[in-house]
Amino acid sequence: MNELISIEELIEVLTYLNDEELMEVRKAYKIANELHAGKFRQSGEPYICHPLMVAFILAEFHVDKDTICAAILHDTIEDTPITQEEITRLFNEDVSLLVDGVTKISQMNFSTKQDQNMANIRKILMAMAKDVRVILIKLADRLHNMRTLQFKSEFKQKENSLETMEIFVPLAYCIGAYRIKSELEDLSLRYLEVDKYRYYEEIKLKTEEESHSCLTEMLLTLDEMLNEQNFVHEIKVRTKNVYGIYKRIEEQGHQLVDIHDLLSLKVMVQDIPNCYLTLGMIHSKYHPLHHKFKDYIYNPKTNMYQSLHTTIFGEEDRLVQTQIRTFEMDQVASFGLAAYWSLHQENARVKMQEEFKKYQFYKSLVEIDEMFADNQEFVARIKDELLTAKVYVYTIDGKVVELPVGSTPVDFAYYINDHLGNTMIGATVNDQEVPFDYQLKTQDRVRIFTDEYLSASEILLDKARTTHAKMKIKENIAHYS
Ligand code: MN
Repeated sequence: MNELISIEELIEVLTYLNDEELMEVRKAYKIANELHAGKFRQSGEPYICHPLMVAFILAEFHVDKDTICAAILHDTIEDTPITQEEITRLFNEDVSLLVDGVTKISQMNFSTKQDQNMANIRKILMAMAKDVRVILIKLADRLHNMRTLQFKSEFKQKENSLETMEIFVPLAYCIGAYRIKSELEDLSLRYLEVDKYRYYEEIKLKTEEESHSCLTEMLLTLDEMLNEQNFVHEIKVRTKNVYGIYKRIEEQGHQLVDIHDLLSLKVMVQDIPNCYLTLGMIHSKYHPLHHKFKDYIYNPKTNMYQSLHTTIFGEEDRLVQTQIRTFEMDQVASFGLAAYWSLHQENARVKMQEEFKKYQFYKSLVEIDEMFADNQEFVARIKDELLTAKVYVYTIDGKVVELPVGSTPVDFAYYINDHLGNTMIGATVNDQEVPFDYQLKTQDRVRIFTDEYLSASEILLDKARTTHAKMKIKENIAHYS
């Protein structure tokens, strides 16, 4: 994991860039290498290995050459004499804005209350909203730092791990980069709870061993079934990360036997119709546990995750979760927004930024920015609404809605649409009447009652938790007064 890497090895994986672009990458390397010359990391490696590894991680997503150059240069403004203006002159405005955006993030500290710090965090978050590539570079940077954390003091290890859990894991979730999220979680847990990490890692390995024959047999059966239909497909065995198991048992109080997705089968096919056909074939062979079926294709998560999940009675009497999705959905599930690079060659950068605007994270960020002039309040809201746990509730017709923990039926109504919120007079959860400030729980089925002749008032304002609902209520009150 901490292998040294050379510029030639990086160039080798950048097969998707043309010669001219590769020249730029070499130039970035040459400059960064000179600037960091004579500096070493605590591991003893020359410093340049770190930015090279960050670029290497990003190359897997097929990011553009500006992102690669910025990754190689990402620590130069902060640690060396070069300025943002010089980077603009040597490369272009994009590269220098990216490096600058990433530089500020390393000064992001949620625990210092000083207003200067709060103003800084605000600037960083808004820079991320403006160019999602800033988040990608920063996540890759954090991932490499976490992978090499063994060389830091115990204090630093704990501090960085906490910060990773507090900021970077939620960020990775927000843009749907599950692969990065899982690795960051496991690396953090390893330093925060050494014994627990070992314990759950052991459980994970044991489960893998025990279910090996069951999963292999099922994999072969499914493979044969899909071959008979001439479906282009790929099937993989996927294991839950150690942190995922830890969280379910320690924090949510589940028993190990109740965790059906400890090991799952991931079936990838070509298009959406084939996903549903595959689901049908699987259900005709293995009985489904009927309350465990989830359709995230019709109902994507707010980070655009799409897949069908079904838990089936598999071989050897084991319950096995099966995830069915298209190859494209799988790319999005692993890399999140970054998948746009490999999925859309033309204009990927513009398309990715456009796509980002559909993400709940982006929408909330912009709303909170608009609503709160005070930096302290802004940061508090971000932590509270965006970088926080979520609940998943249902509309009356079965659509899944994701809201921050602590949300009420009022937040739910405004999430669905403004009209529903503005005319709301009551709500039921699972067919029981609930007060406006009832705190929604995962699995709740929510119905909103309205009266066309009434309109949202001050009363609703303190029953809402999300900035979105509060903003809409205030707009409505202003409109009628
Ligand atoms: Mn760095």
